[in-house]
Amino acid sequence: MPRDPRYDILFEPVKLGPVTAPNRFYQVPHCNGMGYAYPSSMAEMRGVKAEGGWGVVCTEEVEISHTSELAGYIEGRLWDDADIPILAKMVEKVHAHGALAGIEPAHLGMGAANNYSREVPMGPSARPVDMPEPIQARAMDKADIRAFRKMHVDAARRSKAAGFDVVYLYAGHDMTTLMHFLSRRRNDRMDEYGGSLENRVRLLRECLEDTKDAIGDTCCVAVRLAVDELMGSDGISCEAEGRDIIEMLAEIPDLWDVNVSTWEEDSKPSRFSEESFQTDYTSFVKSVTTKPVVGVGRFTSPDTMVSLIKSGKLDLIGAARPSIADPFLPKKVEEGRIEDIRECIGCNICVTADFIHVPLRCTQNPTMGEEWRKGWHPERIAPRHAEESVLIVGAGPAGLEAARALGQRGYEVTLAEGGNTVGGRVAVESQLPGLSAWRRVADYREYQISQMANVGVYLDSRLTADQVLEFGADHVVLATGAKWATSGIGRSHGYPIPAEAGARVMSPDEIMAGAAPEGPVVIFDDEHYYMAGALAEKLRVAGHEVSYVTPASDVSHWTHNTMEQGFIQARLMELGVQIIPLHTLTRIGADHVTLSCIYTGAQRDLAAGTVIPVTMREAQDELYQALIAREDAPASLMRIGDCLAPGTIAMAVYAGHRYARELGEPPAQGVPFRRELPELAKD
Ligand code: ADP
Ligand code: SF4
Repeated sequence: MPRDPRYDILFEPVKLGPVTAPNRFYQVPHCNGMGYAYPSSMAEMRGVKAEGGWGVVCTEEVEISHTSELAGYIEGRLWDDADIPILAKMVEKVHAHGALAGIEPAHLGMGAANNYSREVPMGPSARPVDMPEPIQARAMDKADIRAFRKMHVDAARRSKAAGFDVVYLYAGHDMTTLMHFLSRRRNDRMDEYGGSLENRVRLLRECLEDTKDAIGDTCCVAVRLAVDELMGSDGISCEAEGRDIIEMLAEIPDLWDVNVSTWEEDSKPSRFSEESFQTDYTSFVKSVTTKPVVGVGRFTSPDTMVSLIKSGKLDLIGAARPSIADPFLPKKVEEGRIEDIRECIGCNICVTADFIHVPLRCTQNPTMGEEWRKGWHPERIAPRHAEESVLIVGAGPAGLEAARALGQRGYEVTLAEGGNTVGGRVAVESQLPGLSAWRRVADYREYQISQMANVGVYLDSRLTADQVLEFGADHVVLATGAKWATSGIGRSHGYPIPAEAGARVMSPDEIMAGAAPEGPVVIFDDEHYYMAGALAEKLRVAGHEVSYVTPASDVSHWTHNTMEQGFIQARLMELGVQIIPLHTLTRIGADHVTLSCIYTGAQRDLAAGTVIPVTMREAQDELYQALIAREDAPASLMRIGDCLAPGTIAMAVYAGHRYARELGEPPAQGVPFRRELPELAKD
């Protein structure tokens, strides 16, 4: 289908200094947990983005010196010439599809502890490093500043040698030396690099001019600037210093990449922000410069993108997460396939990869990070190996993705769902406060399946073992999900929590189904992801008195990895939820619970009319157990997703996809993916 003419504007080329972006789709720098450690995975993933139509594809932050390294986080590296080939490989992959390649050289300064290189960190002024480690950065002297400027020039020259078209100066996210110099909080120097804003901007200006002189004839030199730190007059703001900095440097860079700081705010999850959430802060930039401007805001709607350009707010549509969830978003717009876009749900599972130091993953896009090591392409999949049929039981994320991908392979697929809607846990959980965008996991797959003549979906079809056998499919895959346990067994308790007569215990599933608790509610969070916090919010908003008890030190502790923790904790505190950290629940009475301090064991009672344990889920695998107990059990029978072992939605989608990819393939021998090993030194 030809593209809708109203989107033509998105496909206009944009001149970026000496280079030209083929369209307005711009994949801004983003971490990927691959970088220097898994370079072929990184290069292939970026290449797939370019193939999918992103006109500019950038690296993650790339450390320009051993004096600024983030070990064990895995970023890019350009410490010396030895690092060039890895980045050149990425450039080659990106150029192969006609896109421009961008690089974000970064000196992290007091944002890096230098744990690997053991160099003393440095910054504009002496301060502790950002990570909670007993390490302080020293104040840079003039020789350091000269060396720093040279590092940036060297990095720019190396970037050019690697073939990059767009080279950044990175003053964003409160993470880099260039931004630290801008910041009054971090820079209390008395020399010409501190004090007035003019002085604080000096280093950025010098590096910008140095870089332009070094490579500006052939490369676009971009500045990434946080124009608002969301802390009013205590920080840079779009009404004051953010605007002033852009005015001072307005025409020097070839491109402005603008956003809000910190990274938590820039990559805010959908639970706490809408699409376009940064536009109020960044839209002034175009009125201050004639140079092109790129900005982000979890843009997935082409109509929003068009309106941002037509209303003069942006020139290029920046995207990190939307390009991860759908590397082919631009191609789909171009081909008039808007409804095929796999929209980011704003869950920030992608961000966890950086924090847990593994290759990027995505809830919506199960192929993310697997492009090279498993050869998984986000749009292409091998055709079926034989004319066979597959019965999938359960239409949650695992079953839906298996049906979609098997359907794409050409199998005859029947998807039987016991409930009256598809989506499984996603259909239910997306009704929790702030999680409505999560429904997209089901919506995308439901629509794709509806376009496939070879996939049939049957609702209100709770199958028994007899029915499965009667159906007689060649392959049976069970994706029957999981239910929350009420026993209290979990990380802290190996045995059920003792409950006295009259104790009222309800499961998260019952609450989500609409059951009303009685009396003061105690939520016991021993899981540490979003569920307990979301239930506390839901019940508190509904007017219940809610206490949130957890053995962890804070609310929804694992969500530090999705950068949501601070937002969740603040929300619950503002709502008046009583938060009791560092305690387990040791007894449940009719009108109270007993709590125990995890350190001293000191006990105390807390009034409770209803207790909701959020500790673990139990696989719903009765159907599987019934089938394998039969002599005539199907020869090809598997369970996937939560009914095998409950996990994240991303894991369930991945499990469904993996099943579909591997059906009919010879079983992998040994490690089921390609590995990239460090090269052993000759001596
Ligand atoms: P996952 O995350 O693994 O996809 P979910 O819990 O989200 O799991 O979804 C499981 C789905 O399976 C639910 O929609 C549930 O109604 C359905 N289901 C469970 N048992 C059966 C069954 N015997 N027949 C049909 N559907 C079932
Ligand atoms: Fe979006 Fe979630 Fe995928 Fe990240 S993991 S790109 S937030 S859907």
